[in-house]
Amino acid sequence: MTANRKLRMGMVGGGPGAFIGPVHKMAAELDGRIALVAGAFSQSAERSRAAGESFKIDPARAYSSYEQMIAEEKKRPDGIDFVVIATPNHLHLPVAEAALVAGIPVMSDKPATATYGEALALQSAVSLAGLPYGLTHTYAGYALVREARALCASGKLGAIRKVAVEYLQGWLSKPIETTGQKQAAWREDPAMNGPGGCIGDIGVHAFHLVEYVTCLKVTSMNATLRSVVPGRRLDDDCNAFLRMTGDASGTLIASQIAAGERNALTLRVYGENGSLEWAQEDPNDLHVKWLDGPEEIRHASGGYLDASALAVTRLPGGHPEGYIEAFAVLYREFADALWAWKAGKANPLPPTLPGIEAGVRGMRFIERAIESNKTASWVEF
Ligand code: NAD
Repeated sequence: MTANRKLRMGMVGGGPGAFIGPVHKMAAELDGRIALVAGAFSQSAERSRAAGESFKIDPARAYSSYEQMIAEEKKRPDGIDFVVIATPNHLHLPVAEAALVAGIPVMSDKPATATYGEALALQSAVSLAGLPYGLTHTYAGYALVREARALCASGKLGAIRKVAVEYLQGWLSKPIETTGQKQAAWREDPAMNGPGGCIGDIGVHAFHLVEYVTCLKVTSMNATLRSVVPGRRLDDDCNAFLRMTGDASGTLIASQIAAGERNALTLRVYGENGSLEWAQEDPNDLHVKWLDGPEEIRHASGGYLDASALAVTRLPGGHPEGYIEAFAVLYREFADALWAWKAGKANPLPPTLPGIEAGVRGMRFIERAIESNKTASWVEF
């Protein structure tokens, strides 16, 4: 089977006013490998239709529910090739399971599920179905995150000794969930979000970035989770100490009450010989500092970058790439993996693209952080 057409994507979520659904559409379509053709964009049939109209898809393919979308698309000769999940967290497992049972591959937004138990169930469903499952940990798609990962793997920094990751946002500094702010409302509701608030929403990205770049594993953690804004049911501010394989240790700070911050995700990794620093709000530069040498700033698209970083760079130097392009890198890898799978390749996802293992690992992190906070103690992974 050859990639002689665009892959057809069906979206769940992404209705009027949604944040990440439209980003998925832009990113999936950026490289010309995928087209959005169907969706159950909202829990309201009317709003799903309105979204379908704004996305310019065939009105007959804007469905009232994800169950209907899967059933109807299965009947079509030109039915969807995969489902993308861009809903609140409590729907990630049921939608993924319904797609997998119907034989349809899945691309899901993070966190993989609402709870760790659900993640284990999802892992079984993925393995039983034998279908590709990708997870959009967006930051894994940046060229200079790939460069940082290659630099750690090269051994040039020496053994990794320390990691410091921070993910700071300020948008939940006030109880905007009580004012009808849609994104805040479900994130504050344990039934829709799961038990980890800030730790599950953005802490999980920070955790993934640490393990993705260093290729080390967190082995134990001591975490403190607080709900700073009065009345809030889930945590909005988190501090954690990490112990990692290879005798490394680190800190992970995630906060959504860091007033004035927007999306300040920063990773620092310290080895015996030097260190690296990458910041999401300045994503086209990677700072590399040497114990016995001058500091380097590596720029996206620099010919000197590792092949894995150059492979995901689209533009010549000085033409900034960002969030949508990083998302699109994950979609490009997923599309290539889908064609490989259609051609008979088992386990086609490349190691650079987060999949179900990363999903389970992230949910384990959230569950461990909650347990550590509850028991005020170190917990093993
Ligand atoms: P949102 O509230 O803006 O959008 C959620 C959408 O899902 C809405 O359109 C809502 O109508 C729809 N929906 C709810 N129930 C539905 C149902 N039964 N059927 C169909 N649609 C339904 O939320 P968001 O901020 O876009 O977050 C969505 C998901 O994306 C979350 O899991 C979140 O963690 C994740 N996310 C990931 C990133 C990233 O960087 N990868 C960034 C933001 C959000």
